[in-house]
Amino acid sequence: MSNVGHHEFAPSSLVPRYYCACFKPGGSSEYADEGTRKHAILAKMLSLPAGCQTEEEGYKEETAAVREELDFCYDAVMESARAKKHVERYGNLPSRFVEQRLYLQDDNFNDILFGTLDVFLPPLDADDDQFVDLTDWKFGNELHDYRAQLFAYAICAMQRTGTQEARIRVVYGARKHVAQFIVSWAEASQLVFGIIRKCQDPGRSAIPNEYCTWCDGKLECPALTSLALKVAAEREDWDISTFHSSEITEPEEMAKALTLAKLLKKWIDAVEHHAKEMVLGGTDLPGFKAQKSGSKRTIPDIVAAFTECNLVGLDPALFVSGCSLSAAKLEAIFSEAEGLSKAKAKVRVEELVGNLIVHGKEGISLRAISQKV
Ligand code: SF4
Repeated sequence: MSNVGHHEFAPSSLVPRYYCACFKPGGSSEYADEGTRKHAILAKMLSLPAGCQTEEEGYKEETAAVREELDFCYDAVMESARAKKHVERYGNLPSRFVEQRLYLQDDNFNDILFGTLDVFLPPLDADDDQFVDLTDWKFGNELHDYRAQLFAYAICAMQRTGTQEARIRVVYGARKHVAQFIVSWAEASQLVFGIIRKCQDPGRSAIPNEYCTWCDGKLECPALTSLALKVAAEREDWDISTFHSSEITEPEEMAKALTLAKLLKKWIDAVEHHAKEMVLGGTDLPGFKAQKSGSKRTIPDIVAAFTECNLVGLDPALFVSGCSLSAAKLEAIFSEAEGLSKAKAKVRVEELVGNLIVHGKEGISLRAISQKV
């Protein structure tokens, strides 16, 4: 049994592989650092006696909004009947049930896949209901469909405990949403082995989808490139009624156009990046010439500049009106000057100058949500 690294079929990779059998794990994952930090805090919260979770140090350092998110994730676990039984017996959830590595093995004890689940609660004993109770926390804003990942954990947990049923909870902290599933061994293994079989098929083909941005092969993916070319050529097989965005009035059509636009943007960025690399490497591109873009002119030494301007009689108020300071920059300064964590520096700045902070106009971003949850 291997103990390090990710298996070729890590449960998390099955989510995009459900849509594209050519998906390559390893691409960047949005929210990864933030999610890791929140997972670590929640694991510590669960290790404390029930009711004392807010005593966790990391929890106390977080902003009110993050604490609310963590509370939601914590409560979603503790409200399950199985968790209540464990707390009744042990006083908390023993650490062996949190951040568990689970394995699925073949008849010869070779790993088929393995991965780490957030909370895995087996039956307490032979008299308990014979199902496994699984929870996974998600911290992105999108309600992706994580069934493939959780079904993989489910068959690992069922194999380990000799049970035939899994009760699954996917907790979307930022969205305060819980998706729940009850799945049998037969249903879960059918989905998981179906994906693995598709990925092992030598004749598999790439199918662009909402997870292309997670794929390590996106920069050289012919399917994604070809999709972009089709769009650029306005071919009929790009099935939307008009290419003029202002003329799209149907929500379904606009959603379709937006999906394709996001895929195209990735492709365009990738092309520009590699084209610049070619030009910097000495290659001429027909029809293009390299042109230096103007660099931003800044004055890092504000004190020296102020002194010089003051000497020639410039009104200090006018000078200051030309300077700006972002709250994030001031937090970074306090963090360094006083050795504070980012969260504590944010609180410090809020206490000192919170009433002076001006918030810019809020915009919106459009993120894809799964229709399957
Ligand atoms: S970039 Fe290509 S290989 Fe990767 S998921 Fe998208 S279509 Fe599949």
